[in-house]
Amino acid sequence: MEGLFDLEPAQAEERFVALGGRPFHARIARERVLAGGEREYAGMTSLPAGLRDRLGVQLPILVGAELGRRRAPDGTVKLLVGFGDGVAVETVHIPSRTRGRGATLCVSTQAGCPVGCPFCASGKEGLARNLTTGEIVEQFLRGLDVGPLSRAVVMGVGEPLLNVENLVRALEIVRAELGIGSRRITVSTVGFPDRVRRLAAHEPRFQLAISLHTVDQEQRDQLVPAMAGIPIDEVLAAGDAWFEATGREVTYEYVLLGGANDTAGHAERLAARLAGKRATVNLIPYNPIAAEEWHRPSRERVDAFAQALVSRGLVATVRWSRGVEGDAACGQLRLERARA
Ligand code: SF4
Repeated sequence: MEGLFDLEPAQAEERFVALGGRPFHARIARERVLAGGEREYAGMTSLPAGLRDRLGVQLPILVGAELGRRRAPDGTVKLLVGFGDGVAVETVHIPSRTRGRGATLCVSTQAGCPVGCPFCASGKEGLARNLTTGEIVEQFLRGLDVGPLSRAVVMGVGEPLLNVENLVRALEIVRAELGIGSRRITVSTVGFPDRVRRLAAHEPRFQLAISLHTVDQEQRDQLVPAMAGIPIDEVLAAGDAWFEATGREVTYEYVLLGGANDTAGHAERLAARLAGKRATVNLIPYNPIAAEEWHRPSRERVDAFAQALVSRGLVATVRWSRGVEGDAACGQLRLERARA
């Protein structure tokens, strides 16, 4: 079902008029949601009662429903949000480790994912469909209801650049009306070169992360199946083009899979390919999911990999996943429900 945030402001005004309201009613409603925290028309007493009723049925503010919620001991809250046609996505609210600094919201852009990375729960079931602009905005509204937000990462279910139009429209609302600046919004992609270049031309610029995972072509074709046949050189060239166009460094994401892509040789080859680039490598020790062939490397091995990059002049960070306890690892709430 179409929701309020699937419409551009001018379209919303037309729809309000068609439902018996006035254009300014649409502006009031939008502001009450984005700035006032309202989530239902019922509380908007400055709108005529009949209009509120019609809007609630025909143009709801939230079109989804919360199907599940897990809170990890570190305060991370994972939401499972379902939409009318039976699809569900995950949204994760990750509080800052520094008190009072707000939280990062990790949002999804697709129901399922067509990329099919074999280590990822979200890719197991393939793609159901793209999320609408309103469904992406809704994740932010639900995240705000958990607690204040200071950053966003588009790293949830789906490949953002395969749904880039809806995503960019949603992020515009988030940036302009929820006050999360474009420098504090990171879009994470597997790096389709032409799409990276197109996003670089978009103003304002967001931050870009490219999931690399290995620089061995054959292994990357296996770890990122939808990119099979696209040379790693082209992905890196698109990253360079991004930096030239935007002046913003690319973060290369690298999921460390124990025994698969975490050897000293892998680190050496990665360092050689990224030598001289203004970029950061973000190492993500694999987040284990039940009954899978992959496992998380030991802390010593992760540290050794990071050190090998740093000693070759790269900037490397390690991101240990949060909210990983029990079955709350990435993509699992959704997968569990689908299996049930
Ligand atoms: S890791 Fe990302 S790109 Fe790969 S299947 Fe999972 S959601 Fe898709």
